[in-house]
Amino acid sequence: MAYEVPPLPYDYNALEPTIDEQTMHLHHDKHHQAYVNAANGALEGTEWAEKPVEEVLQNLGSVPEDKRQVVRNNAGGHYNHSLFWEWMGPNAGGEPDGALADAIKSAFGSYDEFKAKFKDAGIKRFGSGWAWLVHDGSGLAIVSTPNQDNPISDGKAPLLGVDVWEHAYYLTYQNRRPDYLDAWWNVVNWPKVAEGFSKVG
Ligand code: MN
Repeated sequence: MAYEVPPLPYDYNALEPTIDEQTMHLHHDKHHQAYVNAANGALEGTEWAEKPVEEVLQNLGSVPEDKRQVVRNNAGGHYNHSLFWEWMGPNAGGEPDGALADAIKSAFGSYDEFKAKFKDAGIKRFGSGWAWLVHDGSGLAIVSTPNQDNPISDGKAPLLGVDVWEHAYYLTYQNRRPDYLDAWWNVVNWPKVAEGFSKVG
């Protein structure tokens, strides 16, 4: 079954003022759709066309070499954005609680130190990419990836990720990526992040 862009789980203007409505339309309807179209085009007729996107990204080395980079970029783009929409929400923000909050304190010292390290990973990602909170098999860690790479391809479980491609923030924040990263905490859907953590933590 070919990939499809999942419907946005809230209104396009629901993340304002942190993320403006026009950015959400372009990002979800145009950018995400383009990744889906290109991934479907590359996978069509291969044994991978019917596989879940996670399985494809965990086995990129087995994807036919002439399609591998296109699949890496675009199946990655599809997976990353499908997660990203769910990790945000209206009336969100605040701090994580429960086992996830404990794990963050244990790994990074405090919630504030976690936020600082995550922001730093987003700022230092040169060009386009993502910053991530992952579970690497032994505990929580912060990593960043270029382009549309996902930590799942390195055997790490993505628990939270922020898109630092310019298309994610430029209309509101222009060149001020650090301001976008500061504001982004206001829309993080911590219950969703905790749900992912409960499966790996
Ligand atoms: Mn994006």
